[in-house]
Amino acid sequence: MDVSKVKGVGPKSLQLLNKIGIYTLDDLVTHYPFRYDVLKRSNLQEALPDEKVIIDGKVESVPILLRFKAGLNKLNFRLVTASGIVGISIFNRAFMKANLTIGTNVIVIGKFDKQKNIITASDIKFGSLNNQERIESVYHCTSGLTNKNVSTYINTALLMNGKEISDYIPSYYQEKYQFSNKKTALNIVHNPPNMEKLKEAQIRLKYEELFSFMFKINYLKECHKKEKTGIDREIDRSVVEDIFTKLPFELTEDQQKAIWEIYDDLTGRPRMNRLLQGDVGSGKTIVSIIAMYLNYVSGYQSALMAPTEILATQHYNNVVELFRNISSPISIELLKGSQTKKEKQEIYEKLASGEIDIIIGTHALIQEDVHYKNLGLVVTDEQHRFGVNQRALLTGKGFMPDVLYMSATPIPRTYALTIYGDMDVSIIKQMPKGRIPIQTFLKKEEEIRDVLEMMNEELKQKHQVYVIAPLIEETENSDMTTVLALRDKMNLAFGSRYKIDIVHGKMASGAKDLIMQEFKQNNIQILISTTVIEVGVDVPNASMMVIFDAHRFGLSTLHQLRGRVGRGNIQSKCVLISNSDAKRLEIMKDTTDGFEISEEDFKLRGHGDLFGTKQSGDMCFKIASLKQDFKILMQAKKDSLEYLKDTTNEEDPLKVNLIESINHTSD
Ligand code: ADP
Ligand code: MG
Repeated sequence: MDVSKVKGVGPKSLQLLNKIGIYTLDDLVTHYPFRYDVLKRSNLQEALPDEKVIIDGKVESVPILLRFKAGLNKLNFRLVTASGIVGISIFNRAFMKANLTIGTNVIVIGKFDKQKNIITASDIKFGSLNNQERIESVYHCTSGLTNKNVSTYINTALLMNGKEISDYIPSYYQEKYQFSNKKTALNIVHNPPNMEKLKEAQIRLKYEELFSFMFKINYLKECHKKEKTGIDREIDRSVVEDIFTKLPFELTEDQQKAIWEIYDDLTGRPRMNRLLQGDVGSGKTIVSIIAMYLNYVSGYQSALMAPTEILATQHYNNVVELFRNISSPISIELLKGSQTKKEKQEIYEKLASGEIDIIIGTHALIQEDVHYKNLGLVVTDEQHRFGVNQRALLTGKGFMPDVLYMSATPIPRTYALTIYGDMDVSIIKQMPKGRIPIQTFLKKEEEIRDVLEMMNEELKQKHQVYVIAPLIEETENSDMTTVLALRDKMNLAFGSRYKIDIVHGKMASGAKDLIMQEFKQNNIQILISTTVIEVGVDVPNASMMVIFDAHRFGLSTLHQLRGRVGRGNIQSKCVLISNSDAKRLEIMKDTTDGFEISEEDFKLRGHGDLFGTKQSGDMCFKIASLKQDFKILMQAKKDSLEYLKDTTNEEDPLKVNLIESINHTSD
């Protein structure tokens, strides 16, 4: 159901709700508070002069309105509270006067002046503090849409017919765990009467979220088992052994193992559905290139999809380079957004006729109007998990290709096996030989001179430097370092001797690619950017990274960023600049192991930024947290499998609904 059907939501508020990702009734009622403020009655006699106090009581006198120059105004009235009568003053709330009639119950938040027995209020709410405590929901809002608005819409929606809200817990489990119904739980989570009830309701909603997630994973796994459509290939083992000898370096044992696992998948009957997991720099790309080679040898087309054009271009160059040493004429093409319609059309035609063996690009590769002659393998790099929808798109093309996903998100194994339960997993743990561990330094802002000196040393040795800032340009109410400000700073220090440029997410992708190419070719020595270079970019001559406002980033993000250096055989450095959060950042100095860092992130921040939207869209939960709710996850895994395997409930509308929702998931 569309959110515009909720009473009070007009065209204007609809736009604002859409802006914060709310389109449907379900989106609205599951727009959970990101924080709760606990309002607890203060003891006025013990309040310190500057302390915030909260007190409730009944209005005892008609408020007096005073007006000052410049439009200022002030209301004064007396309040009867549990600890006697106090005077209340509040500025610029003239509009409240009419509602503050004698006898009205209000809650006052402000500062108490003991001498004058007056509270200067910052806020007045209607109501009282039963049990001396009130819990307020705080929501993510946007300009023009207040916390109050959001709360009102949610509560209006909750007053509507309960059947409009989807519930994914089968009644059997509902009863088994004595869960309240969905609407009650939602009501409590949005308007908690107390902490105990809140926690109960949260568990119910978390369970539901994880249950439906695990149901989908289990369902996919079952579907996969039943599939008989895999491609039957015959590839001689000597093809693999032979290619090992033609590479510019020796593969690590883990890389070889992953390749043999892929070989078994490709030559075996079931369709490949494999996740290749490995820390940044562990060398996943070469593994996928060999997979594509094996697919090519057996007569099929391959598609390699990257999340950005920068990465797609880089992969393209790597693939071309590698195949130059390997073999027979193999046709490799790059599909880019910046190509003309005509150029794209040509590529499409060649894909349909089978003239192209390997196509590299972004998700555009599997759009509706792209047809393949015989697509046998799809590789997706980094966070782009290949969604169910997209798989369906391919089936529509008459093929069920083998699929290999690559991910640098270091997830502890137990989690990986659960949340990627529908896939086989290969893990690369070893780093290629000859890597010199990166040295990491923590610096304070006032030590910037040292940092510039370190940069100078690297640049003198003809190495290149990345500089990272959390923001592109100045915004209101933020004191974060920006890319644009750093450009000025760096130009001042190095501009006369070195070429400096910037790259960020707001630039057109063609422009970004161009700058990355220039950096790769060492025509730019200092590259300043936001986290757009986080994933995958490979410039072995870049030996230093300086990250400003390092505390603004999650540890896993810092780890991904740092992985951009130390890719060649030169000693690399990473400098984290920050005046706060030194303790958390310390771990970056102690280890370069992504798994260890992610564990630490897990410990410190619950789920850390590991499963944030950026890392992998489909791992983004609204209320559950994978780390904190591990027990619920495990229970949901077990229950959902049991429910799936039960053949007596095939007609159950809920089951039908769950399966249906899989076909509508997009990521
Ligand atoms: P990631 O796993 O982060 O995608 P890449 O595949 O980009 O890592 O590899 C990082 C770098 O390491 C590349 O320059 C690649 O050529 C190189 N590389 C990969 N495997 C090996 C190896 N076994 N020995 C030496 N260098 C390697
Ligand atoms: Mg990579």
